[in-house]
Amino acid sequence: MAQIHWFPGHMQKARREVAEKIKQVDIVLEVVDARLPESSRNPMLLEMLSQKPRISILNKADLADKRRTKLWLDAYEKDDQSAIAIDAQHARQLKQIPQMAEKILAEKIARKKARGIRNPHVRAMCIGIPNVGKSTILNRLVKKNVAVTGNRPGVTKNQQWLKAEGNLELLDTPGILWPKFDDQIIGKRLALTGAIAESVFTDDDVALWGLEYFQANYAQALAKLYKLNADELALPAHELMTHLTDKLGFGEEYDRMAERFINDVRKGELGTYTLEVPGDKIAERD
Ligand code: GDP
Repeated sequence: MAQIHWFPGHMQKARREVAEKIKQVDIVLEVVDARLPESSRNPMLLEMLSQKPRISILNKADLADKRRTKLWLDAYEKDDQSAIAIDAQHARQLKQIPQMAEKILAEKIARKKARGIRNPHVRAMCIGIPNVGKSTILNRLVKKNVAVTGNRPGVTKNQQWLKAEGNLELLDTPGILWPKFDDQIIGKRLALTGAIAESVFTDDDVALWGLEYFQANYAQALAKLYKLNADELALPAHELMTHLTDKLGFGEEYDRMAERFINDVRKGELGTYTLEVPGDKIAERD
């Protein structure tokens, strides 16, 4: 996974670039990770949009807890925000995106038609933090492999519009913004899914936080994978981690167990999961 190190200069440049591109589109496709729809958003995008319509795309829905994805979609709907959960990797549900965009922009399209433009195009771009699947979505929507050469902030190239379904046209480079890494819990959620380099934290911190979260929210998955009984599952997270280190044959190499747990989460060995629910921080003990 290519990691971008966000220094203040980078952030300013990314912000300027994205703001410039937003001006050229009719609608923004804000791509987030369905396992952490709030934590994987850029904190500044909303103000940068200044009224520009947006579709929230919860990508990687195949890896997320379906019940919680539904909670998120309901919450967006309650806020009158268009949102869709997709699995871009397997090209699922993508077809609805052009239709949603045309529906949201119906008035604008009608006005253009009234002015004599026969097939007014709808221009869009994907925006999001690194690794949420922007390039995958772009490639699937335009049905060809676009070498996203400018897929780093600050790398500019001649931009092009690529035709997707209907009258949708997409900017060939996604807008890349930084994650909200200044909040500890958000940072740990991002690190656990692999969205940011865990070097921001130690593996131990991330694993311990994750283990506790799974104990509180997905205990059955832990029980099944690591063959744990109710008493073991009820141990404080750090004791359970020590117990697992021994049980899985890592001796006293606590770090190796932490790494193993993080990999199990990322590879989906613990099933589908979502690390946050709309509105509150239920079931988090911190
Ligand atoms: P970008 O940095 O936002 O452009 O992200 P990419 O499109 O490069 O995707 C990052 C990683 O996530 C790649 O390994 C993709 O194969 C993977 N990916 C993208 N979309 C999905 C999805 O819907 N489901 C799953 N499981 N993986 C995905």
